[in-house]
Amino acid sequence: MAPSADRLGYWGRPTSTLDWCEENYVVSFYIAEFWNTVSNLIMILPPIYGAIRTYKDGLEFRYVYSFLGLAAVGIGSWCFHMTLQYEMQLLDELPMIYSTCVFVYCLYECFKQQNTLGVFPIMLLFIFSVSVSVVYLQWKEPVFHQVMYGALVACLVMRSIFIVTWVYPWLKPVCYISLSVFLLGFLLWNIDNLACDSLRSTRQRLPPVVGAVTQFHAWWHILTGLGSYLHILFSLQIRSTFLKHRPNVKFLCGVWPMLHIEAQKTS
Ligand SMILES: [Zn+2]
Repeated sequence: MAPSADRLGYWGRPTSTLDWCEENYVVSFYIAEFWNTVSNLIMILPPIYGAIRTYKDGLEFRYVYSFLGLAAVGIGSWCFHMTLQYEMQLLDELPMIYSTCVFVYCLYECFKQQNTLGVFPIMLLFIFSVSVSVVYLQWKEPVFHQVMYGALVACLVMRSIFIVTWVYPWLKPVCYISLSVFLLGFLLWNIDNLACDSLRSTRQRLPPVVGAVTQFHAWWHILTGLGSYLHILFSLQIRSTFLKHRPNVKFLCGVWPMLHIEAQKTS
C-alpha cells in the first residue's frame, strides 16, 4: 500500500500484510508508525474508565464486555502500529470482529428481560467469530477481514436506525452523531489509502507537527474510537430505558460524555 522508501527500526522489517501511509520509524526508532500508534489512546483509556463505571453501577456484564472489547481493539492496534508485525496485526484485527459481535448482541437483545442470555444469538455470533478467525488465519487477505467487519457494522447501523425510527425517536441525536463520526473516520481511512502519495508529499512541505494532522489513519482511530464509544453509550441508553432505569448523560470535565444510571427505586 505504502511506498517502500520506509526506514527500518527497532522491530525490524515489517511482516504485516498491511503497511499504512504513515512513514515508518520517522518520529521514533522504537515506534514504527508513531501517530497511528498514539492515536489509539482514545480507544484505550475512556473505554477502560467506562468499563469500571459500568461495573460499579451494577449494570449488565455485556456492557462491561463492550467497553473492554473496544479497549482490547485499541491495545491490539497500538501493538500493531508500533511493530508492524503480522502477529500484532491479528491482535488488532481479530478483536475488531469479536468486540463488534458483542455490540451486535447488545443491540439485538436490548428488548429482552434483564439478566437473560440469548443462547441462539450467542451461538450464532460465536460460530461467526470462529469461522472468520479460521478463514483469516489461512487466507491472509485483509479485504476479507474488512468485508466481514463491514458486514457487522452494517448490522449495527440497520438495527440502530430501526430503533430510533420506531421505538425511541428521542435517541436520534446520539445515534446519528455516533454514526456520522464513524463514517467520517471511514472516509478519512479511504483517503489515506487512496491518496497516500500526495499526502506524503504534502507532509514533506509542512512543519512536522502540522504534518501530523494529515495522518488520516490516526484520525480514523480517533473518530472510530469516539464513534464506537458513543455507540456503546447509545446501546446502554436503549437498554437502561427499556429496563426502566434512569439514564443520564453527564460530561466528564465538561467534555467527555458518560452515562450515569440510577436504578429505579421499587416501593
Ligand atoms: Zn489502524
